[in-house]
Amino acid sequence: MHEKRSEIAQLGEFGLINKIKQKVSLQNSSSLLGIGDDAAVIDAGDDCVLLSTDMLLEGIHFDLSYMPLQHLGYKAVAVNLSDIAAMNGKPEQITIGLGLSNRFSVEAVELLYEGIRAACENYNVDLVGGDTTASASGLVISVSVIGRAKKEKIAYRTGAKVNEIICVTGDLGGAYMGLQVLNREKQVFLSDPSAQPDLEDHEYVVGRQLKPEARMDIIHELADLNIVPTSMIDVSDGLASEILHLSKASNVGVKLFEDKIPIDNNTFDTALEFKLDPIVIAMNGGEDYELLFTINQTDFEKVKNHPDIHFIGHTHDNANQNVLISKAGTVVPIQAQGWKHF
Ligand code: ADP
Ligand code: MG
Repeated sequence: MHEKRSEIAQLGEFGLINKIKQKVSLQNSSSLLGIGDDAAVIDAGDDCVLLSTDMLLEGIHFDLSYMPLQHLGYKAVAVNLSDIAAMNGKPEQITIGLGLSNRFSVEAVELLYEGIRAACENYNVDLVGGDTTASASGLVISVSVIGRAKKEKIAYRTGAKVNEIICVTGDLGGAYMGLQVLNREKQVFLSDPSAQPDLEDHEYVVGRQLKPEARMDIIHELADLNIVPTSMIDVSDGLASEILHLSKASNVGVKLFEDKIPIDNNTFDTALEFKLDPIVIAMNGGEDYELLFTINQTDFEKVKNHPDIHFIGHTHDNANQNVLISKAGTVVPIQAQGWKHF
């Protein structure tokens, strides 16, 4: 007799999470939202509490041969705070779970915490606990974050309506190209340890990979402008994947325009240098941690001149039609690249 065995790679990350979600039922009336958004939403009297966890593993999410430990600490915190930003909330506390192999010294852990503390200070967040354990497989960092928001201000993935404007902050694809540059320099170094890394022309993209920021600045500005995005998600896996999450959760179609997708010049040039198509990188490169959101057309006046918010398309009523209009006018279906880690 053989037990049935299904490969996780077959199901994919999102298929697996869906399977878990289907068998979970919420018992407490305070659990307003469980699995399925950037953070859980918990009723806490006047406000809601937001809760999210993200884990970074050595060899999967980072490579210590080019990731300085301070940057890693900073990034581990920033990417978690990004999920609270994506709910239109304000992060307040974090806890840190650490798995350490005996390769790591006390000094190494201190460097890591320098970065963690720098992020806490920058985002005004308190480190309030965690857990420390031995690890058989290098460094593991798991961060949980608690945030807060007024119930009526929370932006869910499910809230987009037809004929709304799709916005994205900053620029896309940079973190992915930064990773390509770092990988290339690592290979050069491995074949010739006396070689000096050539990062000079790639400072911007390398910075996007090593030191991402959560866009709390945008969250505060939207609050000042009295705008609540109708839906929101952060761009951790790539624009294509994230816009499909919004489209599916909100049951609307999306139309994006290639010429509106923000790509930094440095990202563009680096992509060409690697013989990659910049728009493919912008659509599918991960780890930019920008915010992708929809707004009601009546809010457009308030943000139309914002230098860091880009209007990349609109929603429509055919939920099955999620397309990118190329510069030449071709209609290209948007497809997620799937999960790279499995
Ligand atoms: P994000 O990219 O914003 O961090 P994920 O794609 O990791 O979001 O997760 C999507 C949703 O699935 C979230 O609500 C998250 O809490 C939930 N989730 C992910 N992994 C698990 C798991 N192993 N068990 C339960 N819920 C999970
Ligand atoms: Mg997210």
